[in-house]
Amino acid sequence: MIENEVYDLLIIGSGPAGMGAAVYAVRAGLKAAVVDRSPVSGGQVQSTYEVDNYLGLPGLSGGDLSDRFREHADRLGVLFITADVQGIGSDDGQQAKYTVHTDKADLRTKAVILATGASHSLLGVPGEKELAGMGVSYCATCDGAFYRKSTVAVVGGGDVAVEDAVFLAGICEKVYLIHRRDQLRAADSLQKKLFSHENVEVFWDSEVKEILGGEMVEGINIYNNKNGEQSRLDVEGVFIAVGIVPDTEVFRGLVEMDEKGYIIADETCVTSEKGIFAAGDIRKKPMRQIITAVADGANAVHSAQ
Ligand SMILES: Cc1cc2nc3c(=O)[nH]c(=O)nc-3n(C[C@H](O)[C@H](O)[C@H](O)COP(=O)(O)OP(=O)(O)OC[C@H]3O[C@@H](n4cnc5c(N)ncnc54)[C@H](O)[C@@H]3O)c2cc1C
Repeated sequence: MIENEVYDLLIIGSGPAGMGAAVYAVRAGLKAAVVDRSPVSGGQVQSTYEVDNYLGLPGLSGGDLSDRFREHADRLGVLFITADVQGIGSDDGQQAKYTVHTDKADLRTKAVILATGASHSLLGVPGEKELAGMGVSYCATCDGAFYRKSTVAVVGGGDVAVEDAVFLAGICEKVYLIHRRDQLRAADSLQKKLFSHENVEVFWDSEVKEILGGEMVEGINIYNNKNGEQSRLDVEGVFIAVGIVPDTEVFRGLVEMDEKGYIIADETCVTSEKGIFAAGDIRKKPMRQIITAVADGANAVHSAQ
């Protein structure tokens, strides 16, 4: 790590958005570096069993796709710095505009692309972490195809949960929707679609207490919070859609965010702070996928240039 160096551009995060940005930055001749707390690139893609919707590279495991991203960046000579970013402050304004504070050192730069992604909220029940990727999923559009003709459960009651249930109803034999309240929060149009599927069964006022299984998910224990009844459902997949949290806490006060912490920026990735750009899952946008994150990375570099 070269501390007194002044970078043209620092990219924070080596998920698809950061890697996309890195490739475009180096090819644009910018003196750039990617800073990630993890030495392994790929972000959330690393935790994906199989990615089947990234154009041109169908059926790769998340690990293999991440490796491809990294090989591409390495071939172009992208500089990677392993460090945890803890905040961004002003620099002298002449040579560098910003100082990126990390757990290892302070890095000086003219511009920054924030690409720290998002994490799915956890249910926090026994079996969830142990069976993640082995039947527990947080992304129906990504993993739903693996459950063709199976019985699955979706947990949640908002737009994402209902969209997931509708999507899965078209693929799976049976879909249970487990919601802890007596009505859904999802849009009416989505609810109409949901109830038009005969293979969807909603468990109202119900909470998942445990996800069961050895190597793979085998079932869930649910609890009715109105009448206290407990029951077991046999399922092969559990799709958890109880929210996603952007990893933007360390950038609070620096750029404008919505009430959930997503950074406000359109597809130019320009934020409220000149010289700071937001790409990928941290940006307020309708679809959070690998392909949209990579596209953001390219757009952010274009804007930064
Ligand atoms: C289980 C699962 C399956 C999925 N399957 C698919 C799929 O099949 N197809 C698809 O298109 N999408 C899929 N997605 C969604 C996709 O992975 C994301 O949309 C995409 O990874 C977002 O990319 P990103 O670069 O914005 O952020 P991320 O991938 O989240 O990367 C963010 C990076 O920033 C780093 N970081 C965070 N904070 C700091 C910090 N303070 N300092 C330094 N580094 C930091 C992290 O270590 C991470 O490497 C899936 C997601 C999950 C969780």
